[in-house]
Amino acid sequence: MKNETTKKSYIIDMDGVLVSGRTVIPGAPEFITALRREGHSFLVLTNNPVYTPGDLSHRLQKLGLEVPKDRIFTSAMATAMFLHSQRGKGGTAFVIGESGLTEALHGIDWVLTDQDPEYVVLGETHAYNIDQISCAVRLLTGGAHFIATNPDASGPSEKGIEPACGAMAALLEKASGVTPFFVGKPNPLMMRTALNYLGVHSENAVMVGDRMDTDIIGGIEAGMETILVLSGVTRREDVQRFSYQPSHIIESVASLGTLEEATVGSDCEDSASGLLVPFLASALLDETGGMKTFSSVKPRAIHRADVDRDARTHD
Ligand SMILES: [Mg+2]
Repeated sequence: MKNETTKKSYIIDMDGVLVSGRTVIPGAPEFITALRREGHSFLVLTNNPVYTPGDLSHRLQKLGLEVPKDRIFTSAMATAMFLHSQRGKGGTAFVIGESGLTEALHGIDWVLTDQDPEYVVLGETHAYNIDQISCAVRLLTGGAHFIATNPDASGPSEKGIEPACGAMAALLEKASGVTPFFVGKPNPLMMRTALNYLGVHSENAVMVGDRMDTDIIGGIEAGMETILVLSGVTRREDVQRFSYQPSHIIESVASLGTLEEATVGSDCEDSASGLLVPFLASALLDETGGMKTFSSVKPRAIHRADVDRDARTHD
């Protein structure tokens, strides 16, 4: 049996985990700081294809979260990487989307055109118009392949709920008869592409998310350890309804205190019996039940069985 010490890498969903709308979730800045201080590789993940990583980094910075743009990964970036893997450089696409998507496609040296493109690539935009939609339908019926960044039917906005990529994809599919291929969550391709982007293996990576039906299923199917936070969409009472379960459940990333190195075994027996986790909510509580500061917490290795007793695992 060979053991090697390695730091865990983290794929972290953004909405509902680090931020909620324009509000930072308590503990998120400290979590990001701990990741950076202790040298863990990580990516902040979002299905939102509208913004570039630079835009998102700036928006997060304004909220008090210091996440460099090279630590942000969007469904638009995953879509571009997927298309590059399928077709290589020099492909052609008719795109409905914002700069987050067009920049990603230009980044793989693709040409955006409505003149006989190989692909129709659908993201999200603030300015859908019937001419664009009609053009996409004609191109699809003419033989173009149909790729969509993310299957979300709707999403939040400052004005309230708005239709998202999945809803517009349904319109195009209904009109053209062509079914889209969705790259974003819950497609595990999104997580695998993110892992490739980070250059890490799934067995050394943790998916942190707030949705069972996207983050957790995607993480499980990509072969990652999973942590469900209850600060977003999924409620604790909803979890047991799912046929798959996260590795761990915590209230929020405020419970993800100091991070430590994990020992990862090279065989199944070791991995299953001795899984070390990089956090423990109770380890962060002082004798009176108050939260310790990060600097006062001494890292220690623990076994999965010691962790959150409410978490339902596959054990
Ligand atoms: Mg989320």
